[in-house]
Amino acid sequence: MTDHRLIEITPATHGVDIDLVYATDRNLTGRPIYRAAHCLLLEPAEAALRRAVELAAQIGMTLRIFDAYRPPQAQQVLWDFLPDPTYVADLSRGSNHSRGTALDLTLLDAQGDELDMGTGFDAMTIASEHFHAGLPVQVQRNRMLLLGVMHGAGFTHIKAEWWHYELPGSRALPVIDNSESGPLRLM
Ligand SMILES: [Zn+2]
Repeated sequence: MTDHRLIEITPATHGVDIDLVYATDRNLTGRPIYRAAHCLLLEPAEAALRRAVELAAQIGMTLRIFDAYRPPQAQQVLWDFLPDPTYVADLSRGSNHSRGTALDLTLLDAQGDELDMGTGFDAMTIASEHFHAGLPVQVQRNRMLLLGVMHGAGFTHIKAEWWHYELPGSRALPVIDNSESGPLRLM
């Protein structure tokens, strides 16, 4: 596959809220990993996101995206900082974020407030796991709402992170190195 086209996701074109945490210092490394806050997804993931936006709207909600396409160089920065395969994909395996088919997100209510998901985005704790027992009922319900929206749109979840969704079969796709030509540049 040579024509893996990344599409920019914006509030204006996709009806989402975007807070690219890795373009800020509010991430686990404490400094910006992306120089520019561009939110990009591979075409089939972009199409599925459009369906997710529609499904979220049906329950009166909006999606807030924390991360989408991640250049392999940024993945390297994360791995160097936290070499734990539970939370960060190592370079030999590659992150599905670097394939353009994964995104991290949550739901906003009608007032624009994030639903209570029990932990923040990128919290490296056991409580980040989907269906983790011991979380308040409302947190479980909120996570299941996001799960329903994203599964309904064609995404699948991973066990360790409530905020992470990806297209099934992503692993078969190539990692996309967008660092030379694309808008995303490392610090
Ligand atoms: Zn993720």
